[in-house]
Amino acid sequence: MAHASAPSFFETVNIYFDKAAALTDYPPGLLEQIKGCSSVYAIQFPVRTSRGYEVFSGWRVQHSHHRLPVKGGIRYAPTVGEDEIKALAALMTYKCAIVDVPFGGAKGGVRLETKKYTVQELEQITRRYTAELIKKNFIGPGVDVPAPDYGTGPREMAWIYDTYSAFHPGAIDAMACVTGKPVTQGGIRGRVEATGRGVSFALREACAVKEDMKALGLSPGLEGKTVVVQGLGNVGYHTAKFLQEAGCIIVGLSERDGAIHRPDGLDVEAVAKYQKERGSLLDFPGARNVTPTNQALELECDILVPAALENQITVENAPRLKTKILAEAANGPTTAAAEQILLQRGVLIIPDVYINAGGVTVSYFEWVKNLSHVRFGRVGKRFEEAAFDRMLSAVEKATGRFFSEEDRHKIARGADEIDLVNSGLEETMITAYHQIRELMKRESRLKDLRTAAFLNAVQKVATTYLELGIFP
Ligand code: NAD
Repeated sequence: MAHASAPSFFETVNIYFDKAAALTDYPPGLLEQIKGCSSVYAIQFPVRTSRGYEVFSGWRVQHSHHRLPVKGGIRYAPTVGEDEIKALAALMTYKCAIVDVPFGGAKGGVRLETKKYTVQELEQITRRYTAELIKKNFIGPGVDVPAPDYGTGPREMAWIYDTYSAFHPGAIDAMACVTGKPVTQGGIRGRVEATGRGVSFALREACAVKEDMKALGLSPGLEGKTVVVQGLGNVGYHTAKFLQEAGCIIVGLSERDGAIHRPDGLDVEAVAKYQKERGSLLDFPGARNVTPTNQALELECDILVPAALENQITVENAPRLKTKILAEAANGPTTAAAEQILLQRGVLIIPDVYINAGGVTVSYFEWVKNLSHVRFGRVGKRFEEAAFDRMLSAVEKATGRFFSEEDRHKIARGADEIDLVNSGLEETMITAYHQIRELMKRESRLKDLRTAAFLNAVQKVATTYLELGIFP
């Protein structure tokens, strides 16, 4: 947790914004319009639980209306508060701009410890929160589209969709009111793992740049790089899994109650299975326990991936971090003061506002799918296959040589939904990385990727606002 006098999470995001804004010559009023939260909705709502009559605090913040709908996850955690939701909503605006996803930023949250409630109670809380959003038009396919975040997942998104459609009978686009739904409820294949997959694509791009790796004393490529991941939830687990598949050595994994360390590498799947069975990853065979858990952040590694919550890397522990690359899979894991320390120490920070954008990117694909009412790949797959097949036959005819059935099957294959989703995600993460990095190289006053990413976002949002003008 940040020190009481340290800037709050929203203030931290605004420090980053101001740093980038200072490099522009937009009118101060326009910058103020971008920076502030357009609408903040704070609610208290009652739910009958096993403890009797309980009142919950919830929020939905719409940070920027420069594009609609606004988009952002819903967080369930005991620490949720207005400042945090405002910070996360602002990050969503910048994030969507960076990866060219045509949404404004938003975020929602309910203050609760999910572990204390039964599934039925969580359903009641989620439905009541959704009803509160409906009352004030803070949810809808063209207005505001939530998604999962810390403490929520496809199950909650299905309840939100069902509640929304119950209040909007006959609304043909109701399914697009929320993303991250189960695939059987209009969700899209690849959404669950999208953020982690996006993080691994981003790291692959960053590590492929020879010049940058040389500056860190590392060889190019992901192969053989040592990795520590904090938080084995949706984002952390998938990031660790994809990085391991790409040839990284996962030397440390941490969860709330403790961390484990094994310099020779941990098998992510085996650790996740062990944790599921035992409720803890401690005492994993062959690994050393690390307690308190946050000491895992200080383990020797090439890539450190905080994938839990904000304010994990502070002035207190930043000087002791031994990583060369900090991949901010979580939102806001590094305080502004800690960032200064790490930059001075030459750490390459790949900022949250870019690196965890894979989730919203695939949410965007899900929204498009819901509005078009057809699965990606359904219309063209067989046609593509037939066209490839004709091409192979033409090659065979011209060369007099024949493909094996196996090769023919591999080459003449139309794209399924998952292929298109992953390809769109990969394209998005690659393009955005190079946009940010090239901006940093071009503008000599830019020294770090975060400020470059914020500048990229400010330019895009400012352009939209300027073109739209002010009405009424
Ligand atoms: P999650 O609830 O699935 O997982 C988070 C995990 O972190 C949990 O397993 C929790 O026990 C663990 N954790 C909490 N405190 C910890 C600590 N001090 N040390 C180690 N582990 C700890 O949440 P998630 O969806 O994976 O989100 C994680 C982060 O990624 C959040 O900052 C979220 O805003 C961000 N994010 C999520 C998505 C998404 O698609 N889910 C997209 C972008 C960003």
